[in-house]
Amino acid sequence: MIHLIKGDISTFAGDAIVNAANTSLLGGGGVDGAIHRAAGPELLAECKTLGGCPTGEAKITSGYKLTSRHVIHTVGPIWRGGSQNEAALLASCYQNSLQLALSHGLTSIAFPNISTGVYGFPKDLAAEIALRSVRRFLDKNPDVEVSFYCFDDENYSLYRGLIEDLDEAAR
Ligand code: ADP
Repeated sequence: MIHLIKGDISTFAGDAIVNAANTSLLGGGGVDGAIHRAAGPELLAECKTLGGCPTGEAKITSGYKLTSRHVIHTVGPIWRGGSQNEAALLASCYQNSLQLALSHGLTSIAFPNISTGVYGFPKDLAAEIALRSVRRFLDKNPDVEVSFYCFDDENYSLYRGLIEDLDEAAR
């Protein structure tokens, strides 16, 4: 099942929130900053033990002060015009985050709109990739619930449109 929420992902109560991190995993701005502020300094301390994370891959930590039990840190691609494998790397973020969640027995997962902030990925294309990747996973793992947290109006309305389209196509 897919849920669409407009708001701050650090308020999600469930098994895991996905963080749009950078390769150092040592904190940043945007959603990464919001998650670290809400989780408290122990999150950064655990991240320091992980040795970073390559683009497209994912690593898991505890959620500390968050209402989410875990944080899955994934690194989205920086948009460089579209010829640098950006689309496949973004799809990998969603797939690898969900696979990692599954391997830890986690079933309620929240995603932000990875790469659509300072990393500059076109929001419409990113939304299509996110939904396609998640739908494909949910077809095989129907017990998993995914919540998309859209922070800005543009992403929220893009997701609204695409989720309606997909629901219509499935009927
Ligand atoms: P990236 O470097 O992957 O682009 P950003 O954090 O800059 O990551 O932005 C990713 C998306 O997260 C953007 O669409 C931005 O609007 C959104 N965002 C920022 N803060 C929050 C938050 N607290 N909760 C959910 N989404 C957020």
